[in-house]
Amino acid sequence: VLEWLRDWMTFPATARGLFTTGGSMAMFNAIACAREKLLGTDIRAGTLYVSSQAHHCIAKAAKLAGIAADRVHTIDVDADFRIRIDDLTRAIAADRAAGLKPFMVFSSAGTTNTGAVDSIDAVADVAAREGLWHHVDGAYGAFFHMVPALRPLLAGLPRADSLTLDPHKGLFMPYGMGALLVRDGEALRALHSSTAGYLPANQDEFYDPAQYGPDLSR
Ligand SMILES: *Cc1c(COP(=O)(O)O)cnc(C)c1O
Repeated sequence: VLEWLRDWMTFPATARGLFTTGGSMAMFNAIACAREKLLGTDIRAGTLYVSSQAHHCIAKAAKLAGIAADRVHTIDVDADFRIRIDDLTRAIAADRAAGLKPFMVFSSAGTTNTGAVDSIDAVADVAAREGLWHHVDGAYGAFFHMVPALRPLLAGLPRADSLTLDPHKGLFMPYGMGALLVRDGEALRALHSSTAGYLPANQDEFYDPAQYGPDLSR
């Protein structure tokens, strides 16, 4: 099923994913993954960027992932409730000048408040230029990428470093179910991989969710 999601979102074959209890926990794993890859142990200087319309679970997930509230920087939106690219660029430059380490930016493939879709392509350009991890929050809207007539609205979505999906929303699953896709599947594995003497040594022969997520017996 994760491979279906990967194909539907036109992510590369090297992407890996994880099922979670919801979008919030997908966000948590994405932030932890970006933090581990881009900040290593130097967490305190790391800053991440969300728009004022971003879902509140991102700030909560950031806190759980060790990124305190004073390192979550809120960017203004334009008249259509989309993140302002000029403000984003300015904030990143100001934070760098202040000795902070910008490492992650979020865009929204549909906000919960109004359904506004950020210019995902423009955020992806900023992220590429600045060396930031770009997470697309598709909990509300990413599944519209499967609809050819609506796909242009979400242009740039497959460029994301990671993507939150919420099958219990866009796919109408009748039980709690979120999902995360990470372009650099090895980065997700690097965050979660662990082993023990009592576990078999053939961890590379199959997809083992315990190597890509926080759960074990589940
Ligand atoms: C619902 C939602 C979330 C949070 O997902 P949960 O499944 O409720 O944890 C995050 N972002 C957006 C845009 C949402 O609509």
